[in-house]
Amino acid sequence: MKIVKNLKLGDFELFFLRDGEFWLDGGGYFGIVPKVIWSNLVTPDELNRVKLNSNPLLVKTNEHNVLIDPGLGNKYSVKQKKIFKISYEPSIEKCLNEIGMTADDIDIVVATHLHFDHVGGCTKIENEKIVPTYKNAIHYFQKNEWEDATHPNQRTKGTYYLENYVPLMEAGLVKLVEGNVEIISGISVEVTGGHTKYHQIVFAKSKGETAVYFGGILSAVTHIKIPYTMGFDLYPVDIMKKRQELYQRAIKENWLVCLEHDPENRAGYFKFDGKNYQFETQVGS
Ligand SMILES: [Zn+2]
Repeated sequence: MKIVKNLKLGDFELFFLRDGEFWLDGGGYFGIVPKVIWSNLVTPDELNRVKLNSNPLLVKTNEHNVLIDPGLGNKYSVKQKKIFKISYEPSIEKCLNEIGMTADDIDIVVATHLHFDHVGGCTKIENEKIVPTYKNAIHYFQKNEWEDATHPNQRTKGTYYLENYVPLMEAGLVKLVEGNVEIISGISVEVTGGHTKYHQIVFAKSKGETAVYFGGILSAVTHIKIPYTMGFDLYPVDIMKKRQELYQRAIKENWLVCLEHDPENRAGYFKFDGKNYQFETQVGS
């Protein structure tokens, strides 16, 4: 069975990739939502963990191959693999091969933020050294996110691993952007905050069609309700405000919303039934 799904977006083509799966503590993942409620949405394993996928998005424009949030990567210790029940299958490498590409074909990488499950795949181990995976790519990160990620505090150090991005800077492959900017024609970022202070979402726009990679603003359909934020969100109240705004814009402007961690729903459209927001899946598992 094919892993990669694809869709046309104006002149662009979107490829929905995978980069492994991991399991997070259900309590942390659902924050203030009680288990009696969230366990109706997903079934935890015997250690109360719930399954997440890593869903990188590739946007092929006429000139560029843009990879958004490369994913988990494969540099984890035995202990980390055990804690997060990480399975590196299918890998992004396998997905790229499936569409006739390799890591060397990627010329732009954009990250919503620098947590390990989003940029772990930016570097890899080669001959016992940590090296860039996408050596032909410029990596676009938000400047203040970079500052936070290179100076983690006691709360954030479990999520920011320097080995995922410092080697890119040393190799001259990083471009730091500030605020809402267009990276190339049709690909832009908008700072949302919330999940991290300088978290950004990524827009792909072509011929009047829009796809938006939501990153940590909404990682899976199970969290669609406005207050269903994660224990890992640094500014949950900001996420709630941002969701109100973004959900409404998504409906008004008919955004194809791409989800970073949902095992079943990779992309779809928001609907509002007068009471609740719904997600109409366009690209499934
Ligand atoms: Zn994150």
